[in-house]
Amino acid sequence: MGRFLQFAELCQALERTRGRLEKRALVASYLATLGEDELSHAVAFLGGRAFPVSDPRTLSVRGLPGPRRGQGDAPTEAQGEPLTIAAIGAAFAEIADASGSGSRARREARLLQLAARASSLEREYLARIIGGEMRTGVSDGLVLEAIAAGVNAAPEAARRAALFLGDLSAVAMLARRGGAAALDSAEPRLFVPLLPMLAEIAEDWAAVLGAHGGETVLEFKYDGARVQIHSDGTRVAIWSRRLSDVTGSLPDVVTRARGYASAPFILDGEVVALGGDGRPLPFQELMRRFRRVHDVEEALGRMPLALHLFDCLMIDGRPLIDVPYAERFAALTRVTGGRDLAERTIARAAEEAEAFRAAALAAGHEGVMAKDLKSGYAPGGRGKRWFKVKTPETVDCVIVAADRGSGRRVGWLSNYHLAVVDGDGLAEVGKTFKGFTDRQFTEMTERLEALAVGDDGYTVRVRPDVVVEVEYNEIQKSPTYPSGLALRFARIARVRDDKGPGQATTLPELRALYDAQFHRKGRAG
Ligand code: AMP
Repeated sequence: MGRFLQFAELCQALERTRGRLEKRALVASYLATLGEDELSHAVAFLGGRAFPVSDPRTLSVRGLPGPRRGQGDAPTEAQGEPLTIAAIGAAFAEIADASGSGSRARREARLLQLAARASSLEREYLARIIGGEMRTGVSDGLVLEAIAAGVNAAPEAARRAALFLGDLSAVAMLARRGGAAALDSAEPRLFVPLLPMLAEIAEDWAAVLGAHGGETVLEFKYDGARVQIHSDGTRVAIWSRRLSDVTGSLPDVVTRARGYASAPFILDGEVVALGGDGRPLPFQELMRRFRRVHDVEEALGRMPLALHLFDCLMIDGRPLIDVPYAERFAALTRVTGGRDLAERTIARAAEEAEAFRAAALAAGHEGVMAKDLKSGYAPGGRGKRWFKVKTPETVDCVIVAADRGSGRRVGWLSNYHLAVVDGDGLAEVGKTFKGFTDRQFTEMTERLEALAVGDDGYTVRVRPDVVVEVEYNEIQKSPTYPSGLALRFARIARVRDDKGPGQATTLPELRALYDAQFHRKGRAG
C-alpha cells in the first residue's frame, strides 16, 4: 500500500539532493515499493501531473484549500486514515469527472476532504501536484532513467518506449510487467501519435551529400502544416506537429485517408491550404482552419487542401520505424497507390540538387528537404539524416573587426565580425571567413588595416566603414551576442561600396526577419 507520506518524503529528499545519479536512485527505489495500481499515478504525480499524459482529464480546481508548509503554522499531523497514492488517484478522478449543476462545489468539497486528511508535509506536495509544478528538479528524462534502472535496462530503451507510448506512466507499467525485454521491444502503436522527425539546416550541398554517403533524396519543402495520419481502415485520426488532435478540422483529409489501402497504417506528411487560384496560401490561413471546428464545412469549400505525404511509419499493422527510408517510401506508395506523394528526386551531385531546388522555388515552395535513404525514422529527433536546404537570404552588415588568418589565410585579416545598426550604435550578429577570393582577401586586409583602431594581436578592431552583403541560411537566437541574434552559415556575397554604415540592416529589421522565419516554419498547431 503506497502511503502518500512516503511520496511526500521522497519529494522532500529529492529537493535536498543535488546529484542526478542520487536523484535517479531515490526515484528508482521508491517506484520499486509501489504496486501496479499505484505506479501509474505516482509517475504522473512526480511530473506534477494529476493524471498520466494519456489521460486527457483535468481537475479544474483553483488550488488546494488550507495553509501550505512554511506559511507560519506549526507542522500538523495527518488526520484519520492515512492517505494513499491510490486514494488520491481515485479522488482526482472523481473531481475531474464531476459535472452538471453543483459540480464546482462538489469538486471543492472533495478536495477539502483530502486536505483535511493530509499532514502539512503531504499537503505541500498535494498542492504542488494540483498546481502542476513539483520543483523537485526531477525531469521526465530522469524518471525514464529511473524506470530503466529499476529493470536493468538501458536508459535509451525507456526513452524510445516513451516516444512510442507517449506516456511515462505507460512506460513504467510496461517495465513492471515485462522488464527490460518489454522496453527493448516497444513499438509504435496505432492511435498513439509519435513526435515527428525534424530536420537540421544544411550549410551547402557538399555537407548534405557528405553526410548521406554521396546520395540523397530531395523533396519539395512544402510551407504548410505537418500531419500524422493513423488509420485502422475505418477510424482515421490526424495529429499536428505538436500532437494536438486535428481530425475534426480536416474532414477532407480523413476522406482521402479512407481511400488508402494496407491499414492499419501511420503516415507522415504536410497539408497545404490552396487559394482560389490553386496557389498555396500563407501558413496563418491554414492555422485558422486548424482552429476552426464549427464551420469546417464552409471552410472546406473556401480553402481546399493539398496533401503531400512523405513517410510511412506503419503498414498492415507492421511498424517501420527502424527500416531505411527507401523502404518506408515504397510502403507509402503502396498505401496511397502513388497518390498524394511529395515531389522528389534522387541526387548524387551538387548540380542535380541545385536544379531540383530551383524547380522547387519556381513552383513557389520554401526550399527542399534532403533525406538519407538509408536512415530510420527518429521520432522527435533533429539531425543530419534529414536536412532542410533553404534559399540563402541576405542582409547588409558593417564590418567592425577582423581576426588574423591562420593556415592558408595567414597574413590576411580573414574572419570578419559582422554587425547591424542598433540605434546610434552597432550590434554584432556573426562572423565569417567565407565568400571571398584570395584577391578579395588581400584587398580587404589592406582596407581594414587602414581603418584599424585597436589590435590585441589576434583581433583588429576597425572603424565601422565597410558594408558587405551577407548571405545566411537561418537567423538563430544567440546567448553570446548582446544583440540576441546570430546569422547561421553566413558568407559574404559582395562588398556594398554604394552603402554607408548607417544604411546597413537594422536590429529591428533583423528581428522581424527572425520572426517571419519562425512563422513560415510552421511551428504552431
Ligand atoms: P522546419 O520547421 O523549418 O524545421 O522544417 C521542417 C518542417 O518542414 C517539417 O516539420 C514539415 O512540417 C515541413 N515539411 C515540408 N515538406 C516536407 C518534406 N518533404 N519532408 C519533411 N518535412 C517537410
